[in-house]
Parts: sequence; C-alpha cells; structure tokens
Amino acid sequence: MTNVSYLSTYATSENTVSTPPPTVSNEMSPPHTKKRKNHSEAWNHFIILSEEEQKASCKYCDTKIKYNNGTSSMHAHLSRCLVYKRQRTSSSMTSAEEHVGSLLIVKFDQEAIRRTMVKMFINMEIPFRKVEHESFHEFMSLASPRFQVCSRTTLARDVLKLWDTERMILKNFLSELTKSLSHH
Ligand SMILES: [Zn+2]
Repeated sequence: MTNVSYLSTYATSENTVSTPPPTVSNEMSPPHTKKRKNHSEAWNHFIILSEEEQKASCKYCDTKIKYNNGTSSMHAHLSRCLVYKRQRTSSSMTSAEEHVGSLLIVKFDQEAIRRTMVKMFINMEIPFRKVEHESFHEFMSLASPRFQVCSRTTLARDVLKLWDTERMILKNFLSELTKSLSHH
C-alpha cells in the first residue's frame, strides 16, 4: 500500500511541476509493453494499483477505477476528470506559453476584478478600511497574484463612481418609464 501511495504522489507532483518538458509522457509510457496487446492511449493516464484485481488510479485526480472491461472505464473516467481536462487545456497552448504554467489560462482583468470587489464590499457591507487588511491582501495575492489591491480611498472613490453609474441608469430608466406612461 505504501508503494502505491508513493507512486501516485510521485505522478501527481510530476504533473504539477510548472515546466514539464513535453517528452515526459513518452518516457513514462514505453512504446513496447509486452503484457498488453492493445496498448490503448488510456493506459498512459492511469497507474496500475493491482493487476490481479484490475484496479488502477487516475494519475491526475487519484480516483480509483476497475478496468475489467478493458479501457472503456478509463475512457469514461477521463471524459469526466476535471483535472485531466484542465491539463489538456493548458497543454494545447503554444510551448512558449506552457512555461508560464496553468495560471495563464485564466484571463486576467484588473478592472473586472476591481468592479466585482467594489460590489462585494457594498453587498457584504464590509468597511472600506478592510481593503487594506493584511489578510485580504494575502488572500488576493494568492487568488490573483497580478491584481493590485487598491487603498481604502480608491475603493471609496470607486464606490461613488459605481453609485453614480447606477444612479444614471436608474434615472434614465425612470425618465423612460415616465415618458412611456405619459403617452397613454
Ligand atoms: Zn481523474
């Protein structure tokens, strides 16, 4: 059992290393496997836990499956495995982008995050000074390392801006409503 957990831990860390050379998967699956006649591509994504019990675990998410019906259960799992899908998305990028790591897939939009943050502070009734809280900074620097957390003054200004925008929208809406009502 210790062997197995070692294997899967190894496989997991291998896959999360930020700059894996593209040849890694070939090294891990020798092209000539004597034992298996139908060497399906699906085997590359699983670690055999027990040949007798026909148990394997997914390299990406550690889910255990039984493969007694050939590789169909493997394919079935891969089609559902979110970790695998995420990796495939990142590996379909150009090699230059690959080196930056999986974070690159997330589109970074400073303004969108900031607008959402302003709304969050209003909706959750969080005091503006909390934007300067150490814990909030720590959280944001991990969640979105490129996002620049603003000061409480900027946040307050943003809130006013948002309030202005919303007020204009409401004003326009009301004047349209009044117009359409007065026509009847
Ligand atoms: Zn999986």
